[in-house]
Formats: sequence, structure tokens, C-alpha cells
Amino acid sequence: MSIREKIDSLKEDDVFISLEFFPPKTESGIRNLLARMERMSAMNPLFVTVTWGAGGSTAEKTLSLVQTCQREMDLTTCMHLTCTNIDKSIIDDALAKAKAAGVRNILALRGDPPRGEEYFVPNSADFSHAVDLVKYIKKQYGDWFCVGVAAYPEGHCEGADSANQSVAKDLPYLKEKVDAGADFIITQLFYDVEKFLTFEQMVRNNISKDIPILPGLMPINTYQLFHRAAKLSHASIPRSILDRFPESIQNDDDKVKSVGVDILKDIIHEIYSRTNGRIRGFHFYTLNLEKAIAQIVEKSSLLNGMIENDDEDVIMDDDEDHIATLKTARSSSVSNRVLVDKLQRDPVDFQDASDFKLQAPSKKAILAISSGEGTLGRDATWDEFPNGRFGDSRSPAYGEIDGYGPSLKIATERAYELWGYPVDLKDVSNVFVGYLEGKIDALPWSELGLSPETAMIQEELIQLNERGYLSLASQPACDSARSDDKIFGWGPKGGYVYQKAFVELFVSRDAWLNTLKPKLLSNEKAGYYLGDSRGGFESSLDTKSSNAVTWGVFPDREILQTTIIEEESFKAWRDEAFSIWLEWAKLYKKNTPSYKLLQQIHDDYLLVTVVCHDYRNETGLWDLLLE
Ligand code: FAD
Repeated sequence: MSIREKIDSLKEDDVFISLEFFPPKTESGIRNLLARMERMSAMNPLFVTVTWGAGGSTAEKTLSLVQTCQREMDLTTCMHLTCTNIDKSIIDDALAKAKAAGVRNILALRGDPPRGEEYFVPNSADFSHAVDLVKYIKKQYGDWFCVGVAAYPEGHCEGADSANQSVAKDLPYLKEKVDAGADFIITQLFYDVEKFLTFEQMVRNNISKDIPILPGLMPINTYQLFHRAAKLSHASIPRSILDRFPESIQNDDDKVKSVGVDILKDIIHEIYSRTNGRIRGFHFYTLNLEKAIAQIVEKSSLLNGMIENDDEDVIMDDDEDHIATLKTARSSSVSNRVLVDKLQRDPVDFQDASDFKLQAPSKKAILAISSGEGTLGRDATWDEFPNGRFGDSRSPAYGEIDGYGPSLKIATERAYELWGYPVDLKDVSNVFVGYLEGKIDALPWSELGLSPETAMIQEELIQLNERGYLSLASQPACDSARSDDKIFGWGPKGGYVYQKAFVELFVSRDAWLNTLKPKLLSNEKAGYYLGDSRGGFESSLDTKSSNAVTWGVFPDREILQTTIIEEESFKAWRDEAFSIWLEWAKLYKKNTPSYKLLQQIHDDYLLVTVVCHDYRNETGLWDLLLE
């Protein structure tokens, strides 16, 4: 069935959830995501969606995951598809393959437009806006595909200039998409319920009384990621929500997650009750993590009601009575699959991807996942402290907090202001040094600003960058700090955290061969991974070796390793890191000195990650590199 058919066949008081996943960057991440999806099927999502990398960058991975979800796992699957800045043949191929796999649903999106006319993909002229894709799909495929479109409760933000955000400006274009045949709407993430309600009312008054609108919701996993996601999505955070995170809990990830679960539950209940149940489907941006969503579903009497009560002991939240009475347990569309709890203990050993064992919708399973108990809970919880790309590459969540593939996260005009028009290596190194000195607040690879711990090695990093070693990421060593430490702290309260020093650098081949490599080979405490833009790779470490560089010891749980550097994660990041040089180059016209310089660095430089294994020696890595 298509999504619209499924929604239309629900009973009047049914509510539902849908889950967005992104295709993991590594093979082990994919295997573990499939295991994760099996567990999450206990939450009975009406459908799942799979994201599509900007410009088709994940086309193969997206299609492969979509095919597996639809054909092998029998989940109602929706493929995201963008249309600008992408060769039309890729769109045709994706639609044909999706149809062949039995997929009935596409989320039709525009994607990022090209930065300049010169970079316009010639064969993409038919597609300027998402509406063009909606029309195209309907024309080519009739009613085979049920088409969803995106909408923005606070207005779409073009580039990074939030001054241009306006729901009223977008509304005629959203209407165009609906008039062209869009069957449902999924919104950008938001935390301000009032803004969503106003937006919904505007859609009802001006566009459609009954098109399903699914509010997009992103669980709060850590305080830092919460702010980052809101910033990247141009979503405002109301004061009343910020006030729920006093400074004393901001470094306690367990506490932050638990407050976040309550916030999301409140948002869902508020929307449901203030729209009198008109909004009854809730879309979760999962970031490929499951625990927070399981907690939200478990705690919400509204969402909990969609799953049969298989366990007397399940604790229900005492929510507003009128919501509880509106709901009845739903069993009609519940598939009757057998609950098989035989997932492997070690997620990496999960090999059985072709033999899917979806969970029957089950409160018991959700409780196990949300509380981290039993086999289900353990498997759900092992990578619960997401750390962007510096996570564990075996985690399905590895490498993605930034949305839809490698791109510059700032508007073109701002990029010129920050990085100017570099014409030689000194100009480029000045950009990196400026970032470390706090004079420039973003690099093409990072617009987050420096973390407090970088201040501890700021001088060393500046010296390296002045010598032409361009540093992308780094951390100082730490031989134990309390988990609530303002600089190093993470994870639950009452623990101790540790770090090995590492640094990631772009270096010229010459500097590598004549200076850096001999130094590293002569020091037994340092190991390195090295790669180039052509896929080249070299390491001083064993292929199968794994370097935990951040770990923590906490009460009542096993040792957690949040950052692991190893060959697989290095290779996944290497390709992305180099592609950002090209994104930067595209700010300038072809054949200009800036364009040529950045292209040349992309072609000739090497990316090196150096880890110093002696975490008790605070200065070891920096002494070695600077001596
Ligand atoms: P459009 O509907 O084309 O709107 C884009 C802008 O153009 C808006 O400002 C609109 O007001 C304006 N506009 C629309 N039509 C016209 C017109 N005819 N004339 C003039 N102006 C017009 N990106 C990815 O790369 N991969 C994904 O998987 C992905 N998934 C997403 C999922 C959701 C739920 C959402 C909300 C976004 C997703 N995105 C994804 C991001 C999306 O591609 C960007 O936000 C993009 O900038 C806009 O896409 P759109 O489909 O809303 O575009």
C-alpha cells in the first residue's frame, strides 16, 4: 500500500509514527542499522523514509537501503529524492529501481541548488524546484508513486540568511506542490509548537483541509547536538524549552536525553490535542538512533496506545485524560510477525542481514529498548552517545549529524566574507589560523566553532597551521576528568572520562615524505592513517586495529567508547573531507586563481590522522609534531 492509502485506511482515532533513516557510511554501520530497524519495528511505524544525499551523492546507498527495507523487510518505504544540481538520468534510474523494488512512495525535494551558473548540471534544467519533480513523477508514473513534499513551519531558509524565512512566502509554492499532486507533507524539524500550529492553520485555510501533515521531530540526544540541529535547520528554540536545561545538567547526557524525551512527548500531545487529532502522524528524524524514540513512544500515552498492551507491568505516563480517552489500542494493521529476540550480543557480529526478524509491535520490546535492559536494550544502547563523525564507525549513526551529505553549511556571501579569495598556500593557512584564533567563526569543514578543549592546545595548533599543516580536527590527551567536567565531560553523571590526543591534518606530499612520516615512524607511541583524494590509503597500524580515543567509565554500565578511529571510519571520512575542498572551490569561477588553488590542494594534498597512544602524556603528540 502507499502511504496515503495506509493513512486513509486508519481508524478515525488512530495515531501513527514514521521514522527517517539515512544510509550509513560504512558496511558495519549498514548491518547494524538493519538490526536496529528490526528492533524499532516494535514501535509499529506506519512507514520509514530513507534520505538522499545532496546531488545524488548517496544514490547507490540510498537505493540499496530502500530496496532492502521494502523488499526484504517488508516495511512501507519512502525514498527521498532531490532534483536540482543532479543529472536527470540519476533521477530516472532511481525512480525505475524504486518501482522495481515495489516502493510506492517518494518524498520529492529540491535539494541544494548549485552555487553558481557555471556549476549547473546541464541535464538538470527541467528541475528548478521540488514542484517540477512532483509533476515529473506524476507524469511518468501516474498513481504508482504516492508523493510527499517538504514544508517549513518557520519558513524555508535559503542559504543561511534566516531573515528570508517566511511561511507566507513559501505558501503559494507549497500550494503548487499540492496542486501538482502531492499526497502528504512532512515538515522540517521544529521545537516551537505555536509556530507549527500557525503554519498548519495557514495550510488548512489556503491549501487543503485534509492533506496529511506530519510534523518533523528530532529527539534531543545531547545538548550540543540539539543546538546544532536547530541551528542548521533554522528552527527556533522557545525560551520555555531552553529553561528546561539549566547549566547544571547540560553536560549530563542522560539527563539531557530524559528532559528531551519529556519535551518531545509534550510537543506531540500539545499538537494532537490542539488540532483535535487532525494531526495524528508524527515523523521522527531518528539520526539512526533508537533509544530516545523508544523512550518517547513508551512515555507517551498517545503513541503508546497504538501498540497492543502485551505487558501488565508497562508503566504509563498519567497524561491528560482527554487524550487517553480519545485513544484505543490498535490491532487492525498490526502485522503478526513473531517476536524473535536472538540478536547477537556484539552488534558487529550481526551478519544475518538477509534473514529479517521484525519485532511484533510490542510495549515490552519498546520498554526494553528505552530502558536499555535485556538483549534488546543492550543492542539498542551501545552507541547512544553520538558524536558526529567522531563516533564508532560500526554505529549506524556514525558520521551524520549534518543532514544531507557534504556541503558548505553557510551562505555564499558569508563564505566570501570569512574565507576571502585565497591565491596561495599562505592565504589558506591564514584561514585555518584565523579560525583557531577565533577571528573566523567557521571553516568549510566546520561551522560549529572551537570546542573548549581546543583552547588547551590552541598554541600548538596555530604553530602547526602556520607551518602549512592544515588541521581539521584534534583533541588533547586527558588522563581522567569527571564526567561533569566543563571541558572534557560527557555521558552520565558520576563517571570519569579519558582521551588520547589526536590530530587530523591536510599536508603536502613533500612535507609528509620529508618531515612528518619519518618522525611518526620513529616514535612507537604514535600511529597514523593517511589518504588522498584518489582513494589512496596507508597506515602504520594493522588493518583490523581499532583506536579508542575517547572513553568513559560510569556507574552501572560497561565502559563506553564514544570515539574510535580506525581504517573504516578514516576511509569514509577521507572522501568527504576531500570533497569539501571542491565545494569550497565552487565558490569561485572556474580558472580563477582561487578555484585553481583549491582544486590543486584537493588533488595533491594528503589527509593524515595521527593518534598518540600515551594518553597520560599531555604534551607528547605536540612535542613530536613540532620538534
Ligand atoms: P522547494 O519546494 O522547491 O522550495 C525551495 C525554496 O524555493 C523555498 O524557499 C520556496 O519558497 C521557493 N520556491 C518553490 N517553488 C518556487 C517557484 N516556483 N518560484 C520561486 N520560488 C519557489 N535534502 C536532501 O538533499 N536530501 C534529503 O533527503 C532531504 N530530505 C528532506 C526531508 C524533509 C522532511 C525536509 C523538510 C527537507 C529535506 N531536505 C533534503 C532538504 C531540502 O532539500 C532543502 O530544504 C531544500 O533547500 C528545499 O527543498 P524543498 O523540496 O522544500 O524545495
